[in-house]
Formats: sequence, structure tokens, C-alpha cells
Amino acid sequence: EAKRQGGAGHRIVDKRGAHRNDQKNSLERDLRPALSDGTLAIGFQPIVRTADGLVIGVEALLRWTHPERGPVPAPVAIGLAEQSGLINEVGQWVLAHAAHERARWLDAVTPLDLAVNVSGRQLLGNGFCGVVASVLSRTGMDPATLTLEVTENILIEDHGRAITILEDLKTLGVRLALDDFGTGFSSLSYLRRLPIDVVKVDRAFVSDLDNGHEGAAIVAAVTGMAHELGFTVTAEGVETRSQRDKLTAIGCDSSQGFYYAEPMPASTLGELARQSTGPLHLPSRVASQ
Ligand code: C2E
Ligand code: MG
Ligand code: MG
Ligand code: MG
Repeated sequence: EAKRQGGAGHRIVDKRGAHRNDQKNSLERDLRPALSDGTLAIGFQPIVRTADGLVIGVEALLRWTHPERGPVPAPVAIGLAEQSGLINEVGQWVLAHAAHERARWLDAVTPLDLAVNVSGRQLLGNGFCGVVASVLSRTGMDPATLTLEVTENILIEDHGRAITILEDLKTLGVRLALDDFGTGFSSLSYLRRLPIDVVKVDRAFVSDLDNGHEGAAIVAAVTGMAHELGFTVTAEGVETRSQRDKLTAIGCDSSQGFYYAEPMPASTLGELARQSTGPLHLPSRVASQ
């Protein structure tokens, strides 16, 4: 086909493009079986109270290990799910399994809030509120212990509808977080008009904490203003002790990142909690020093 169209240059481009498409198509094909073949899993990343490292919650993160290709990055898997019309199924899988695994491995040891990511297509898709309501009722979980994380881009596509759905979700009693704050278009004063409870300060700002006092000034300003507006503030991607110390000084409510713990199976986290004497604090190396 490329030959008929002309020069060798075209053919190379076409071949590469075709190869990429093949890969994408086959990944898409494998996503549906993944919903039932055990290759999907959830990593639970602890969220701690910044002031003392007490583990207060977990964020559920999708993990897909493709049988031939190995781990597929979460944003790639979610992108494929959105493109192939499987996002409702995948999103429902994550919500239901995260709730189930929390109940099985964590609740008995220590009650932890659960945060689950929701993509734009998923939120705006038909019946999302109903899906959340049915998971809540089937698991019997306290809605106030569930936080749904959304990003600002959900507000771009169909703004009015997005707000209506967020407000419907609030009537179920769940909490809403704005993920990756600072990477998008909106200001905090704009967020005030959204039914949001938590602002998650993007990792880019947290890593800037180590770049002189201006980095810290920005996080301090965002945190202070978010508090004024009634939001709880979570810092994402905390990797160093010095970032932790600065976030503590700033008064950032909660934190997550590799400094404390990477995402892990619920059973592993449950085991950590069981082994700790008293409530679980992270990083545990600090507690044991
Ligand atoms: P996110 O919701 O902002 O999740 C945080 C991401 O940062 C996770 O990547 C996490 O593993 C990573 N992370 C945590 N601490 C650190 C750190 O200290 N340093 C660095 N460099 N990274 C850290 P992951 O699991 O690859 O997920 C990436 C994104 O994919 C998520 O960003 C979220 O937007 C999306 N995602 C993951 N799981 C789901 C899901 O079940 N549903 C939907 N809709 N999206 C999901
Ligand atoms: Mg998130
Ligand atoms: Mg984030
Ligand atoms: Mg992020």
C-alpha cells in the first residue's frame, strides 16, 4: 500500500505508524479479558498526616500487568480504556475491588480513608453516580470515607454537566478531591465554586520545595489560600525528608509520596499495620530510629 502511494520515505513512516497502531489495537483487545483474567490489580499508596506521619488513608492506583508485555503504565491503561469504550467497566472494577480489598485487608487492622481516581469520560458517562451508589450500598462503607479524585480537565469538556454530576456525588456523602492542582487552568478562587473538599497539590510544586525559598513560598501560598477557602490540602509526590519538613512547617494537612511509601498491595499494607505497635506511622524507619 505504501509502495503504491510513492517513495520509500512514506513507507517507513507508514510502517512505523502501522506498528504503533498494531500495538495499540492489541493492547486494547487485551484490556477486556483483563477485567476477569487476574492481570488487573490495585496498588494502594498510603496517605499520611503530614505533621506526624500517621497513615490516614490510601489512594487506589490501577496496575495492569500484560501477559506478554509486562506492566502497562496506569495513564496508558486508562487512555486505552477511554478510547475503547471500556472506561466504565475498568473504573467500576477499580472502585469495587478497592472497596473490597480495603474491607478485607485494612479495615480490620486500621480504618483508612480510600481515594479512587475518576477519569473525565468515566465521570461524564451514563450512570456514574448510580455505580458509586451501588458500590456504597453493596459494601456498606461509610460514604464519608470515600474520596473521588478528579482533575480539572473534566471541567473543560462539558462544564455544566460535570458540575451537576459532582453535586450529585456530594449528595451521596462522598468527598471530592481535585487532583494535580496547579497543572491546569483554574485558580483557587474558581475552585471555590466547585463542590470540592480536598486540593491535591501536584508533584511538580512539591519537588520545587527543594529549589530555594521561592518553591516553598508558592506551596505556602497555595496551602494558605486553600485553607482560607475551606479545602483540605494534600501534597503529592513527596520524595525527601526536607520536602516533608517544609510541608510540615507550611501546615499542609496530608502527604503522599515515595518518601513515605510506594503503592503496594493491600495485603502488604495490612501486614505493615499489623506489625506496627500502635497506629501505623510512615516512614516506619523514622519511628524505629
Ligand atoms: P495520580 O492520581 O496523580 O496518582 C499519583 C501518581 O504518582 C501515581 O502514578 C503514583 O504511583 C505516583 N507517585 C506517587 N508518589 C510519587 C513520588 O514520590 N514520586 C513520583 N515520581 N511519583 C509518585 P501511577 O500509579 O502511574 O498513576 C498515574 C496516573 O494515572 C494517576 O495520577 C491517575 O491520574 C491515573 N490513574 C491511576 N490509576 C487510575 C484509576 O484507577 N483510574 C483513573 N481514572 N486514573 C488512574
Ligand atoms: Mg490521584
Ligand atoms: Mg495527582
Ligand atoms: Mg499526578
